[in-house]
Amino acid sequence: MNNESVLTPVYADNAATTKLGPAALRAMIEACEDAFANPSSPHTPGQRAAKLLWASRERIAACIGADAREITFTSGGTEADNLAVLTAAAGEKRHIISTVIEHHAVLRPLERLRRRGYEIELLPVGKNGIVDLEDLRRALRPDTALVSVMTANNEIGTVQPIREIGGLCRAAGVPFHTDAVQAAGHLPIDVRGMNTDLLSASAHKFHGPKGVGFLYARRGTELYPQLLGGSQERGKRAGTENLPAIAGMAAALEEAVSSMAENNAKTARLRDRIIAGILSAVPGARLNGDREKRLANNLNIMIPGANAEAMILLLDGAGIAVSSGAACASGAGELSHVLTAIGLAEEDARCCLRITPGEDLTEAQAEYIVAAVARAAQRIRSI
Ligand SMILES: *Cc1c(COP(=O)(O)O)cnc(C)c1O
Repeated sequence: MNNESVLTPVYADNAATTKLGPAALRAMIEACEDAFANPSSPHTPGQRAAKLLWASRERIAACIGADAREITFTSGGTEADNLAVLTAAAGEKRHIISTVIEHHAVLRPLERLRRRGYEIELLPVGKNGIVDLEDLRRALRPDTALVSVMTANNEIGTVQPIREIGGLCRAAGVPFHTDAVQAAGHLPIDVRGMNTDLLSASAHKFHGPKGVGFLYARRGTELYPQLLGGSQERGKRAGTENLPAIAGMAAALEEAVSSMAENNAKTARLRDRIIAGILSAVPGARLNGDREKRLANNLNIMIPGANAEAMILLLDGAGIAVSSGAACASGAGELSHVLTAIGLAEEDARCCLRITPGEDLTEAQAEYIVAAVARAAQRIRSI
């Protein structure tokens, strides 16, 4: 590839994290400079910080159709998921329903609850990675404390029928949590229309800063605080608020929501081009997850015989950053629970590439990715 230097570096791992956007960066600098005081302090600088904190809460709430009082700031998606899941342990009911493809930020707290005597029921997904509503209907019980189903999967990008799932839960009187970390800023979110009681989001997945997120909890949904201390966040989450990050998150989410249609049209076109390109250039390659019900910026492809770790190294050498799945699990050599849940044999699950283009990827770069993947696959297969 002679014009490689014009095309690289190519960052196509936006499901792992996104680059901080300019609006978010500006908001963060402003917050550091003008609102450095503690928002809990009664003096004037403190109240200036408190005002920015509240304004950020209102802006975020407006982006998802919530009320500002329903937003609790957290240190990211993981903490929001933990808080939501462990909320199930606040009451008497002992049965919890979730799915086999959730992020570990949901699965690990569920495992802890299981060890404490809770009955955890993980719904299967079809080969397309989607939950069957009938399975949920059958699983719901009078003693179900919580249902937790992610909006969009971080590995294979599949989008669940959240509105319908929420409707079933609502009808059964069971609180419904959705991990919307991959969806926030990428899919329209309307907490009321989606029938959700709890919803997690994380700023660094929509061009906001890392280490900040939020949990939406519908009014009347009781949270079970995990961090105890001061009375910040109305007693639901102690600790001085990370105001610069929160202000950056608000700016990033507003920006993402206002340019969502345009961004999605662009990334979906790039995604489809990469999918079509790889499927035609690489014999035996197969798309994982549903073809239609998927995030605009996610494609996950199985290339039999081409080990993903080796592929990633070769692609990195060509200036392309992609992944084999969850950033937290890869590297540990851990087999993806999501890929096995959609029915892949271990051998095939180790040959899957996740490519998640951003809005700034060019068509030429998309073509470059296809060519580089084809070359790398051929090289590995020939060894
Ligand atoms: C990234 C991610 C998380 C974790 O969010 P952090 O802010 O990195 O803690 C949780 N769930 C999903 C689906 C994710 O993609």
